[in-house]
Amino acid sequence: QVGRTGILTPVAELEPVFLAGSTIARATLHNEEEIQRKDIRVGDTVVIEKAGQVIPAVVRVVMEKRPAESAPYNLPESLGHRCPVCHGPIHRDPEFVAWRCENMACPAQLKRSIAHFASRKAMDIEGLGDKLIDQLVDSGLVTSHVDLFHLTSDQLAGLERMGPKSAANLVQALADCKTRDLWRLLHGLGIPHVGEGAARKLADAFRSLDRIQQAAETELEAVPDIGEIMADAIADFFRNEKNLTLIKALTDAGLAPTPPAQSAVSAVGPLQGKTVVVTGTLSHFSRDSIKETLRSLGATVTDSVSKKTDYLIVGDAPGSKVAKAEKLGVSILTEADFLDLANQEPPGQPP
Ligand SMILES: [Zn+2]
Repeated sequence: QVGRTGILTPVAELEPVFLAGSTIARATLHNEEEIQRKDIRVGDTVVIEKAGQVIPAVVRVVMEKRPAESAPYNLPESLGHRCPVCHGPIHRDPEFVAWRCENMACPAQLKRSIAHFASRKAMDIEGLGDKLIDQLVDSGLVTSHVDLFHLTSDQLAGLERMGPKSAANLVQALADCKTRDLWRLLHGLGIPHVGEGAARKLADAFRSLDRIQQAAETELEAVPDIGEIMADAIADFFRNEKNLTLIKALTDAGLAPTPPAQSAVSAVGPLQGKTVVVTGTLSHFSRDSIKETLRSLGATVTDSVSKKTDYLIVGDAPGSKVAKAEKLGVSILTEADFLDLANQEPPGQPP
């Protein structure tokens, strides 16, 4: 079996057996080391284990039933050192203890990769399931992610089990997904090690695909929860010509992911870089909480009014600062003015 990143997962073909409510004809062997450790050979009788929804796994070999002529299993040799799907060359990936198909155009990889792209935790493309992806790739209609966005309802309606209505729905779903949140695209691209959580963090920190592409590894590592290995993988991904071509093609096809919503910490807010003084008692803020709010908006809070002061926020029973501000021509804001300006919802009453 060939995975999304080209990893070959050995699967045992079994004489079908009925177990825990379903017929089982295949079980995972995980990887080459596992096969060697358990010394699983062709023709062996094995004990399998089924846990929940997971593919059943081979637990051990029943040695008494091993055929006399059996030989240790050699994964690359049994495959003739070729990918079972595209017959391209395979090589051993030391990082994943696995054999990997190196052909990036391998249909098996493309199918997995598109399935991941379309999945609910990524681009969330309704109606684009595994069976349909198989048909699209096998028929040659889709040879890359970009082809998805050029599909017409006529082409789709020509496929098996696809009526005109579901064809039109899928074309609509594909059009709708073009403006999905940036993190969904980042996750959907299948950057090694980057899951949903990391994709969200990257989107929050960089806010555009361009900026992530251009980010140095040190900048990537500065993002919370992005470690050295992940930063390496991300930088590698965006250095790869093939990936850049894909991203360019997706953008040309109209993909325009939505950056995350601006938080209160805004780099372009009206109080960014301003010097603010507060006087009197405010109704929605304690002295500490107003300072904290101002700082979070990018303002500098000082204690006394001077020529450098941009705003004086005035509460009840203000002191001499008001007169001084008027004299210096400093803008005076009431608490309501401030809330308007900063576009802030008033918080709860101060403690
Ligand atoms: Zn292949």
